[in-house]
Amino acid sequence: MRTANLSGRLVLLVDGLAVDVERAGDGRFTADPQAVYQRWGEFRSWAASARLPEGVAFDPSDLGSPAPAPRQLLAVGLNYRDHAAESGFTLPEGLPPVFTKFATSITGPVTEVTLPPGGSTDWEVELVAVIGQQCRNVAQVGVWGRIAGVTIGQDLSERITQMSGPAPQFSLGKSLPGFTPMGPCLVTPEEFADIDDLELRATIDGEEVQKGRTRDLIFSVPALVSRLSALLPLLPGDVLFTGTPAGVGWGREPQRFLHPGEELVSTIDGIGELRQRFIA
Ligand code: ZN
Repeated sequence: MRTANLSGRLVLLVDGLAVDVERAGDGRFTADPQAVYQRWGEFRSWAASARLPEGVAFDPSDLGSPAPAPRQLLAVGLNYRDHAAESGFTLPEGLPPVFTKFATSITGPVTEVTLPPGGSTDWEVELVAVIGQQCRNVAQVGVWGRIAGVTIGQDLSERITQMSGPAPQFSLGKSLPGFTPMGPCLVTPEEFADIDDLELRATIDGEEVQKGRTRDLIFSVPALVSRLSALLPLLPGDVLFTGTPAGVGWGREPQRFLHPGEELVSTIDGIGELRQRFIA
């Protein structure tokens, strides 16, 4: 099953067309794309058996984030060996570094992003999991059954702010306006042949800068959810950014960052793509 946020309304995607959930269900579920996660199991059952009207075509630039207002957004750093090495950090053991991207930075999948001064804005394509059922002290086994679905995220990062001061400012440097695009849709885990092995890529103006597979995550999605849920509850609709593979600009020799006029495309097979154009 695929869902999306079309102009602020929850839709089901059927053969690439959008079916408005509130109208199709005669008001049984609200149009609020974030609220659906509170009743995810009930919604899934309904969607599986509902007789849906014909969908409508839409413009991807009208899509919002499939989780536009999570109560918590947890993001994980250094979760691929090759990226930890290029960043100059040692590998994490018990838990990788965890930070947040503040909610005002969340956008849909097709956007224009204003680059902050300093010329140090970097890219990080990531698999993003959205929680479908509260997780507290859960074992790894069965975690995918508690995930509503997955989507693509870009963890845009302004490296000067991120790395400045006596302790790094990960959350602030990664939360400037437009720095958390997500989408284009939410795809439920059973749609994939192997949910633990998805290919993710990023290109700038067509040039490939990142390519990795989620089987190379140091902490898999089930491992992250299990370990995080031992410390705090993960709530329905919460968003988990799972880390980025090698190829970010910070780790290059010489370093490379995003420039006005460039277009960043982030892709995960079976989900779709994000498209960000940068302006000064
Ligand atoms: Zn990241």
